[in-house]
Amino acid sequence: MTNAQKKNETDTTTVQDDENMRPFETDVSRLLDIVANALYSNRDVFLRELISNAADACDRLRYEALSNNNLTKGSASFNITITPDRDMATLTITDNGIGMNKEDLINNLGTIARSGTAAILENLKSQGQEKDMSLIGQFGVGFYASFMVAGHVDVISRKAGEDKTYYWRSDGRTGFTIREATDEEAKQLTDNHGTLIKLFIKGDAFDYMIDDKIKQIVSAYSDHIEIPIYLEDGKELKEGETREPINAASALWTRPKNEITEEQYKEFYHHIGTAFDDPILKTHWTAEGVIEYTSLLFIPSLRPWDLYDPNAKSGLRLYVKRVFITDQLDTLLYPWLRFVSGIVDSQDLPLNISREMLQSNPVVSKIRSGVTKRILNEIDKLSTQDEAAFATLWGQFGAVMKEGLYDAVEHREALFKICRFFSTHDNEKQTSLSDYIERMSDAQEKIYYITGDKIESLRNSPQLEGFKSRDIEVLMMTDTVDEFWLQQVGDYQGKKFQSVTQGNVDLSKFEKNKPEDEKKTEKTAEHKKEIETFTAYLQTQLADQIAFVRPSKRLTESPVCLVADEGGVDINMEKTLRLQQKYEPGIKKVLEINPDHTLIQTLASMAAAEKDETFLKDAALMLMDQALIIQGESLPDPSGFAKRMAEFMQRGLS
Ligand code: ADP
Ligand code: MG
Repeated sequence: MTNAQKKNETDTTTVQDDENMRPFETDVSRLLDIVANALYSNRDVFLRELISNAADACDRLRYEALSNNNLTKGSASFNITITPDRDMATLTITDNGIGMNKEDLINNLGTIARSGTAAILENLKSQGQEKDMSLIGQFGVGFYASFMVAGHVDVISRKAGEDKTYYWRSDGRTGFTIREATDEEAKQLTDNHGTLIKLFIKGDAFDYMIDDKIKQIVSAYSDHIEIPIYLEDGKELKEGETREPINAASALWTRPKNEITEEQYKEFYHHIGTAFDDPILKTHWTAEGVIEYTSLLFIPSLRPWDLYDPNAKSGLRLYVKRVFITDQLDTLLYPWLRFVSGIVDSQDLPLNISREMLQSNPVVSKIRSGVTKRILNEIDKLSTQDEAAFATLWGQFGAVMKEGLYDAVEHREALFKICRFFSTHDNEKQTSLSDYIERMSDAQEKIYYITGDKIESLRNSPQLEGFKSRDIEVLMMTDTVDEFWLQQVGDYQGKKFQSVTQGNVDLSKFEKNKPEDEKKTEKTAEHKKEIETFTAYLQTQLADQIAFVRPSKRLTESPVCLVADEGGVDINMEKTLRLQQKYEPGIKKVLEINPDHTLIQTLASMAAAEKDETFLKDAALMLMDQALIIQGESLPDPSGFAKRMAEFMQRGLS
């Protein structure tokens, strides 16, 4: 270890003793603590993060300069330079991008700017996994990754168009100091705008100052960066010789597909997205015709932490003729595809269009349509080519994509093609709607479904019994969004969606698959009169709790179940509304009793004979309680239920 390196390791006084020192926010401190203490699986990523920021800064200035030429003084040859200094044990990354003023430095480097990083932290905190942080190196913690290899970091930056240069320093532990830069410091910038980041390399990270190591990291992680990256290796250039960039320095999506490796695609994905997993799907194409654009899109294999965060950063960047325009154009991608990241590079949009004007631009909506079609088509292809990958994708994002069923009628057909549902047909594999329809018998006209919280309890729903006994397949849906699209979308290919927990389903035209079930029904005919009396009896007894009682056509094994009335709100929907929106529709349900069930038949005989009035009263309440419990509802009078239950058990024992 050289003396300089030793000094880097221990030298924190410069920061702590400074009167300008500001402590980090708690979030930042925690993140830095993790960065410092975690065992990094891969420290190389710090350079990827810094280059990625430098490239973004150049992209942003290039856009700003379109409307304000003065910012770059007309010359816009953007570059990133990496300078190792082995004597001083420093590594410096300089860019001539947009730069940062005092406020930017404080806000961007003093707080966690990336919503993704904050969310990762939040998630790890909630899971109590702070100890096992060795994975975080893969996630990319942005600028703070510097502290994996540096004892402290200096930043000198000047924002394009402004005349003050600032100096920022931090030890990555306590806080940072900020002040105006001296002339000497300001001179170190390669241009009159941009940022210089100097890392004071720790003793165990010396290899990051070796030229070959730097070249290797750049080609592994940053080759797709369009801005040229130079290595300042101290070699004198001969007459007429120019320094060659150490990256390919052309926009990845403009290169021929067969010249791009999977690794390069992957690194590009890491650069633009906030996720650091491997994409599960990638598509790269050029649309030609009325509108022309090139697009390279990815679908992550892991659900982003902020999938349901309305402020989540969009992962889709818009370029116009290779110039970065914005990553905040929410009309470029439907919200139900918000997990898609990538770039769109348009040939048709004017370069000098303001971001506000883009919002309502017809070219943008045409691109959105094309992009959506392409994505849905690729997902459909994946479903036949790689079932496992498709299942993962659908499992992660199906619930989000189903929002599109009511949000984008234009794409509904294509969306339905990739929708998968659990069904009574198969216990493990989900089914598509077209497969469902293929299995329908000629007599069946509707697509039957049931909704609820959990697939396991749905499978045992009493309302399904009549369908199972007749081999009628029922789809089982557990996403909240299902309730909503089912309300909006009446049918699929002319077949109506019908809830099995709503209305009076008539299954009499379907044959039961077990002959003994048919016999039961014959026996029931004998009890017809008594059942009618009992139905009327229950109705008066339970009038407070239910709309009415009727003999069921959908039950075969259970004695009772609850359903929604024909025109009412379906029963699971009612629950959803109640829980999520604190809305009480106040609609009473229908209690169905199973006329084939021995219990019901016995009780019916008792009611007809007007025997044992108190017992019958309790029995009526017990039937109602049962129906509620199966439905996962709470009981109106739990202690009354317990008392009745005890009495019934007593009776059974004596
Ligand atoms: P992210 O890049 O995901 O926003 P980072 O931690 O990498 O998160 O960077 C935080 C912010 O700091 C960036 O969003 C940017 O605004 C600013 N920043 C970092 N490096 C530079 C740079 N070289 N030039 C200009 N701004 C920068
Ligand atoms: Mg970054």
